[in-house]
This record gives sequence, structure tokens and C-alpha cells, in this order.
Amino acid sequence: MSTQPTQAGLDAYWMPYSSNREFKANPRMITGAEGAYYMDDRGRRIFDGLSGLWTCGAGHNRTEISSAISKQLGELDYAPAFQFGHNKAFELAERLAAMAPGDLNRVFYVNSGSEAADTATKIARAYWRQSGQPNKTRLIGRAKGYHGASWGGISFGGIGNNRKLWGHALDADHIHHTWRPEQAFTQGSPEDGAERADELLDRIALHDASNIAAVIVEPFSGSAGVIIPPVGYLKRLREICTEHNILLIFDEVITGFGRAGATFGADAFDVVPDMICCAKQITNGVIPMGAVLIKDEIYRAFMEAGGAEHNIELPHGYTYSGHPVACAAALATLDLLERDQLIPRVAEMAPYFEQAIHSLKGLAHILDIRNYGFAAGLSIAHKDGDPAIRPYKIAMDLWEKGFYVRYGGDTLQLGLPFITESHEIDSLINAMGESIKNAE
Ligand code: PMP
Repeated sequence: MSTQPTQAGLDAYWMPYSSNREFKANPRMITGAEGAYYMDDRGRRIFDGLSGLWTCGAGHNRTEISSAISKQLGELDYAPAFQFGHNKAFELAERLAAMAPGDLNRVFYVNSGSEAADTATKIARAYWRQSGQPNKTRLIGRAKGYHGASWGGISFGGIGNNRKLWGHALDADHIHHTWRPEQAFTQGSPEDGAERADELLDRIALHDASNIAAVIVEPFSGSAGVIIPPVGYLKRLREICTEHNILLIFDEVITGFGRAGATFGADAFDVVPDMICCAKQITNGVIPMGAVLIKDEIYRAFMEAGGAEHNIELPHGYTYSGHPVACAAALATLDLLERDQLIPRVAEMAPYFEQAIHSLKGLAHILDIRNYGFAAGLSIAHKDGDPAIRPYKIAMDLWEKGFYVRYGGDTLQLGLPFITESHEIDSLINAMGESIKNAE
């Protein structure tokens, strides 16, 4: 079977978040995968330095997951989640509730990170309306935040490029991101800057807390190039939200299930939000799935609101919410993470990765290096006013060398598979050093 697309195929497929013209002039085709590696159409093995799209931390083509999927397909291929149930969804909910921090013991299933962020913010608004505070509708995100590509996500998300073709969708506010030039090349969390959370107080002064539903942030922002919060910043956000009766949502689509060297970013930073958005790593990327983990009190408010027995408490959900095959994949993924102790492994290996990635400091064009757990971001100097050209060239040169890393805006992004060995980190960093030097 050919590994190259036909011209008709190239013409027909409008690729998402891609330069279609660039790709179609020079298709880079992935033909297979195993463990921490992709195979390409030239028969090469390529180290997957972003775990897919922050999805496949346990490595690719894990038979533990694919056989759970096959088994599920042999039993129940699909079941409606509205008014009917199947046991895998309940089993997974119990498992997720037990893993979640604090009293986030209720689980709402979705199919993606975008749907998780939409769902959490919709629940926030509905909660306040339900609780007799219908004016608490305003949503607050952060500059450079990424919460998906839906109308909600591009509204409370704060990446300008993702909004420029659409303009105004939902009304939302954005507080600043936490990055400051003086913290460049900090390893892990910057010590100073917790008070940047106090900007939220200005928004509260402006709108009044009686009009604000929720604040949504990534514990560390991924798509913006891995921006790590200063020590105490998330705690301060939590304090302000609690004090002013505003819900705090952590979008853990990237940080959930091990990326931060802990089960959740909430655990890594020791802060319990009111809701957590998950996706990606929840099924090791094998089947689309997402979930929102919700504080007990929020769920109970809906259940206690009354109404007739047959009334729907939350008119929200998706055809594929809690899909049995996705639930089977998620259960197998959680088993695998636990059996192979992959989350503690990330925590254990993170200092090695930190030293390695920071050894690139001093190379031309590198303006900053940031890291946490098995995630890292590098800021690259713009060339001729174009932020993307150098990161693009470096990523393409690395692809030629057999390494996949992501470029986005003026950054390069790394999200190592949790199974990465130290010699693979060494090879990746050596290759990055060379590609960066070649990037003039
Ligand atoms: N939130 C965050 C923090 C993400 O990183 C992403 C995806 N990169 C999303 C939401 C959106 O997820 P999806 O693409 O599955 O809709």
C-alpha cells in the first residue's frame, strides 16, 4: 500500500492548524508508531518529542490499550449516554473521582479538550443561575491561554492568532500571563511573581464579583510555549476566587495524568480548583475523550434544585459522551500508568530533562528556556519581524534528523513520552543544539 497521498487526496483534505500549502508541497507522512517513536514513509524511526500532541505519554501502540479496545468492541460498540448507561462509564467515573484532588468527585464526559473547557464554563454559569445568582456570567481567562478551538475556547482563550479571523464570540476578560523577561532561563517555577494573581482583584473591582462566574487557567500553559507559574501564584488565584465566590477551573488537558510529574497539575502545585478539564492523556490519545471533574457541591446543587423526577438537571452533553470504547481505552490507560509507575517516573526523570534542556542556554537565538515535569518550551528570536520562521526551520531540521518537536508562534515545545530513557534525552538535546545552530 502506498504511503504517499494521491493528488486528489491532497486536494481534498483541508488540514487543521496547518500550513496546507507548505505541507502539500512536501508531505511528511507518518506510517506507523511504536513506543516513543514514529515511523515515516522513508522507513525512518523518529523520536516523538511531543508525545503525539501531548497525548501519548505511555508510548504508542500499547497492546494493553488496543486489546482493551478490541475486547470492548466485541461486547458493546456504542450505547447512548442520555437516559441509559453502560458499566464502563461508571467504573471509569469512580476511578477518576478517586484520583482527583479534594472533593472533585463528580465526572462529566466529553470528547475533547475544547468540549471539556466549554462544558466546565457552561456548568459554572448554570451553577450560579441555579443558585439564584444569574448575573454571575462573566468568564475570565488569561493572555496566551489555550482552551480549544470552539467559540468558548477562542473567547476565554488568549492566543491572538487563534481569534484573528473570527473576532468577538463570547464576552470574556483576560488577565496577563505570568511570564516576565527577568525570569528567562528559570529552571522549573520562578520564585518571584505570585502577586501577579492580584490582577484578578482589578477585574473584580471593575465588574464586581456578583457578575463573575469563573476563572479558567492552565496550571502551566502548554500551547503558548510552556509558561510556568511563579511559586504561590496559583494558590493566590485560589485564595482570591474563594474569597470572592468565583469558581476556579484548571484546564488540565495537557497537565493531567502525569505530564507535570503528578497525577494532576493541581497536585503538583498543591491547589484544589473547583473543576478540572481533562482530555488527551486520559486515553493515551488512542480514542478521543475528555472529562470534567467537578466539585461535589456543584453537582449536589443541581440535584437538589428540585423539579420533577423526569426533568433533566443539566441540558448538556454529547452523542459520544462516555463512549464505551473510549471508557475502555481510558481504564486501560490508567491501569498502564499505574502498573508501570509512569507518573512517578516522570517526577524522577524530570531533573535530568531539566539539566539537559537548559544546557541549550547560550546558543544564538534562544531567548528563554522553560520546563516543568516532562514539558519544556523555548522562545526563539524573531527573524526579519517573523516570529515563526526560526522555530519552523528548527523543527523541520529536527524532523530530518529523526526528531519530532512542535513549533508554535515563536516557540518550540517539547512533551516527552513518559517512557523516555536518559540516552534519548541526550540524543534529542544534541540534535536540537545542532538544528538551532543551523537555523540562521
Ligand atoms: N485545553 C488545553 C490546555 C489544550 O492544550 C488543548 C489542546 N492542545 C485544548 C484545551 C483543546 O483540546 P482539543 O484539541 O482536544 O479540543
